[in-house]
Amino acid sequence: MKNMKSKRFIPLLMMSFIVSCSSPKTAQQKVETENFNYVIDRFADVEIMRYTLDNWDELSLQQKTLIYYLSQAALCGRDILFDQNCKYNLTVKSVINNIMQHYNGVKEDEDWNGFVEYAKRFWFSNGMHHHYSNEKFIPKCSQDYFRYLLENSEIQEFPLLEGETFADFAERITTIIYDPKVAPTRIYQSDSSTADLVVNSAVNFYEGVTQNEVEQFYAKLGQKDEERPLSYGLNSKVIKNENKVQELPYKVGGLYSDAIKQIIFWLEKAVGVAENPAQKKHIELLIEYYRSGDLAVWDEYNVEWVKDINSHVDYINGFIEVYTDPLGRKATWEALVNYKDDKNSERTSIISKNAQWFEDNSPIAPEFKKKEVKGVEAKVITVAHLGGDCYPTTPIGINLPNANWIRKEHGSKSVTIHNVMYAYTQARMQSGYADEFFNSRYDIDLQEKYGFITENLLVDLHECLGHGSGQMLPGVDDGALKNYHSVIEETRADLFALYFIADPKMVELGLLPNEKAYYAAYYRYILNGMMLQLNRIDLGNNIAQAHMRNRAIIANWCYEYGMKDNVIEIIKRNDKTYIIINDYEKLRTLIGEFLTEVQRIKSTGDFAAARKLVETYGVKIDIELHKEVKDRYALLNVAPYGGFVNPVFDVIKKGDKITDIKVHYVEDYVQQMLEYDRKFNFLK
Ligand code: ZN
Repeated sequence: MKNMKSKRFIPLLMMSFIVSCSSPKTAQQKVETENFNYVIDRFADVEIMRYTLDNWDELSLQQKTLIYYLSQAALCGRDILFDQNCKYNLTVKSVINNIMQHYNGVKEDEDWNGFVEYAKRFWFSNGMHHHYSNEKFIPKCSQDYFRYLLENSEIQEFPLLEGETFADFAERITTIIYDPKVAPTRIYQSDSSTADLVVNSAVNFYEGVTQNEVEQFYAKLGQKDEERPLSYGLNSKVIKNENKVQELPYKVGGLYSDAIKQIIFWLEKAVGVAENPAQKKHIELLIEYYRSGDLAVWDEYNVEWVKDINSHVDYINGFIEVYTDPLGRKATWEALVNYKDDKNSERTSIISKNAQWFEDNSPIAPEFKKKEVKGVEAKVITVAHLGGDCYPTTPIGINLPNANWIRKEHGSKSVTIHNVMYAYTQARMQSGYADEFFNSRYDIDLQEKYGFITENLLVDLHECLGHGSGQMLPGVDDGALKNYHSVIEETRADLFALYFIADPKMVELGLLPNEKAYYAAYYRYILNGMMLQLNRIDLGNNIAQAHMRNRAIIANWCYEYGMKDNVIEIIKRNDKTYIIINDYEKLRTLIGEFLTEVQRIKSTGDFAAARKLVETYGVKIDIELHKEVKDRYALLNVAPYGGFVNPVFDVIKKGDKITDIKVHYVEDYVQQMLEYDRKFNFLK
């Protein structure tokens, strides 16, 4: 079965803890930030920020050109992701674009604002479902008003079906957008094991097939090479054709061909300005894979990509993460372009050099330890462009490739994204959330002193070491934990990071200034897991998202198991709930014990234990506390979710020759979205 390890730290609320940056913007920073607005838009539960490209002018023209070409390749797959998220999305997107461009009526009223908010949310989520909760959202303006907008836009540009009248089209599209019964949930999650995850999910990876049929289809395929299994199903849609289940691969001549051809166009240009033969080789392999859809070539590409650790410019481009597939097999399209942040890379370099020490000193059982930890390549990067499933919400750390056998034989690349984390910090700095939620001045001071440094370190440990540590027992199927796999894997990586951030080794290696600095990380983590992250969930709902579940599991488990020693205490003051950590050392011991157990669950594929853990600690919410957190947050007006617009590259030419590439930072989110809709509109 396809490995469904999820290896991305989703930033969001985690970053909102940072009230102050203990290591202010470094001297190497070139971007003028005095009057720079990091937050440029705010709507619904979202704020839009921008990130800056530090030290851009120190790059060579060749590197700048390479980044530019890769950035275009990163935007060309935009439509693919919309279509993968739900089969109605491309139609809705073109309708929104038409109205936004052509409606010329009154634009000051509440109705119009309601529609614009819907448009902004739709782009933000890459479709009509909330990017985090997966629930469909509906415009605030009325259906009548929406029809009025349709009638007052460019009618001949609407994507009418053959023989469809405009009235029929208006009826169809209104139903798609407004009817809560049409595609209600993007990824269906169920507590009972009987509900069909495929049939009940609105994702567009499957059509006309049941979960059982899909599972049987892939079971029958088997694997030729058990040691080096191919990621079957990663790049295809499964349909039923004349009663036969079959795959439609994403490739040139297959599904999404027109967008993939455009990606290839820019990748071919990138080959021409590659920094070195190794980089040239993996870009060429990626092109070959996009042409053939051959998963063996995909693996070959990943091996070459992970081996290339010397290139200054790097990228991600492809069908990679499987979070959106309820069966954890099919990948959404994503892209990211970056270059190395040399100064901050020193930190992760220290961590990766000591990888074996961490594995040897991990509290997990000896049989689950890797005898030899290999190829933990870690660096800090500056993101230069985001596309597909990395845009507008972006990870702050990445660890790829996903195939376990490649990780085992060739290692993985771990990166943390400094400029994105920094933008989050700047944006949150004055939110006032710490004064509202932290128990004491002492806790706030800790956060101000060690917040940013411990946040960075937690991400580094999670990405560089956490996911790569430990091993499966021989014969245990990678997919044994099924729908609990992602949650357990994230829990494991977080526990690993939390356990070691409290180790004296951190001070010894010069990564933390003293042996109490980790308190800041612990306090923030527990407060988030038990309380703060609830702000992002609608009242009455359960916790659904994997990363949020894993944080709740760790915090709630530690609270319960530490209760007899009063390790973590919940108190009420003036009707407000606060959390106190009474014994940090005992909390660390608990985290170590929990890591031991979670590693056992993963290594042995103990599905029953995984389910019990998740369902007991990671799903249910105390409704009173939930309401309180939301009320207190509402007063702060902090957006629970954040995303980013891309900077714009200005290509300067003499004749046909590029002589320089400059960067400018846009301030208009809607404009960027409309422009992308127009320029990268390759699928119909
Ligand atoms: Zn992770």
